[in-house]
Amino acid sequence: MLVTLARFLDPWEAYVVRALLEAEGLPATVAHAHHAIANWPMSLALGGTAVQVPAPLLVSARALLTDYRTGVLEQQLNEDLGIRSEHCPRCGSMDFKRTMPLHRRIGALVIVLFLAAYPSRRSLFICRNCGGQWRWGQE
Ligand SMILES: [Zn+2]
Repeated sequence: MLVTLARFLDPWEAYVVRALLEAEGLPATVAHAHHAIANWPMSLALGGTAVQVPAPLLVSARALLTDYRTGVLEQQLNEDLGIRSEHCPRCGSMDFKRTMPLHRRIGALVIVLFLAAYPSRRSLFICRNCGGQWRWGQE
């Protein structure tokens, strides 16, 4: 019997999670993805897109989903690739929020309203631990 592991508003994220589960040897399926494509508001009313797994594998699947959502898997990938995860250059903390300076917000609004997508790599990082600030790729 299949049980629902998680629901997603974005069906593509559901497919990413399914692929992640299958890569770890946990069979999974995506349900209700066609609702999101055919009728987005109806999909939201029905609870979004579901990722389902066999009931006996639910605990293992939840552990993997938790690692995905908390960034543990991304951190492992960065370590495997020799890339240091984004961190505060002052204290090394990885607990930070991402913000954008006001002039860039106004610029983004203008671009979004009148042109196209905005380059998000210009974001400003602010460390929640010490208040240190830095930009992408700067230390
Ligand atoms: Zn810091």
